[in-house]
Amino acid sequence: MEYKTFRSDLKMPVIGLGTWGIGGGYWTPDCSRKAEWVAFIRRAIELGYRMFDTAEMYGGGCSEEIIGAAISGFSRDDLFIVSKVWPTHASFDDVLRSARASVGRLGTFIDLYLLHWPSRDVPIAETIRAFERLIDDGLIRFMGVSNFDAKLLMEAMSAARKYEVVADEVKYNLADRFIERDLMPLAVKENIAIIAYSPLGTGTLLNPSNPSYSVLRSIAEKYGKTPAQVALNWLISKPNTVAIPKATREEHLKENLGALGWRISQEDQKQLEQAYPIK
Ligand code: NAP
Repeated sequence: MEYKTFRSDLKMPVIGLGTWGIGGGYWTPDCSRKAEWVAFIRRAIELGYRMFDTAEMYGGGCSEEIIGAAISGFSRDDLFIVSKVWPTHASFDDVLRSARASVGRLGTFIDLYLLHWPSRDVPIAETIRAFERLIDDGLIRFMGVSNFDAKLLMEAMSAARKYEVVADEVKYNLADRFIERDLMPLAVKENIAIIAYSPLGTGTLLNPSNPSYSVLRSIAEKYGKTPAQVALNWLISKPNTVAIPKATREEHLKENLGALGWRISQEDQKQLEQAYPIK
């Protein structure tokens, strides 16, 4: 695995596994395939995955339960667990309650705990206070946000007192580069981790009917890699960026790790970016 280091000495694997849909959907548990999913996550660890992205909302906690069962027996120090609190639980007491429940399901502390979306009702300073308490209590190691634009991220950063906001998990892929305008420059300046979700555009980047696919494919051929590996390599070549592709097939798990250990040239990055202009 390759790692990047951010503020507060946060060290993160550059590729992690997204788990949306593993164990159910939007607040809807589906633990019927639990044993199968546990084996799948264990296989991911054997293949080299070290970071798992989950949330209390994913399958209403079932995703966290699966990850917790899967990681037991592996060296905890080698793993990095990201989880998130839903914005309706953003008040001080609710954050503590949600985090305790997540830690209970995972059976271990959370490395990075994020507010899943900005809250309309609770000031970010209140949520940050709860995150700081959780760090003090050893339930989480680092705190961050998700789906925050540059302005909201700055607000969150200035609300932090005892610890720093270290990460923002946002949608980022070749076809969706909105964050490059304001958020990325801020993240670089402040050395904050950008965790790129939907890094394969939920799979649409790899659809041959996508008008820009031919460019992705021709660059992939040039490097002897696959289009998915190029799309992920392009992301991890970006400053401050790590990616969390989701895969539910073992061949995809393996293929996506092939984004590691090499880098696309600056020229080819530019060619790709011209094929996918910022919308
Ligand atoms: P994604 O990772 O861009 O795409 C996942 C899709 O791509 C799946 O259908 C998967 O298929 C397919 N795929 C993966 N590797 C492939 C490969 N090598 N070749 C062909 N197809 C491949 O989309 P995502 O699930 O939206 O995003 C990833 C993770 O980000 C989520 O799982 C979640 O953890 C996180 N996320 C966070 C937020 C947030 O608000 N913070 C929002 C959305 C997502 P198979 O399943 O068949 O392998």
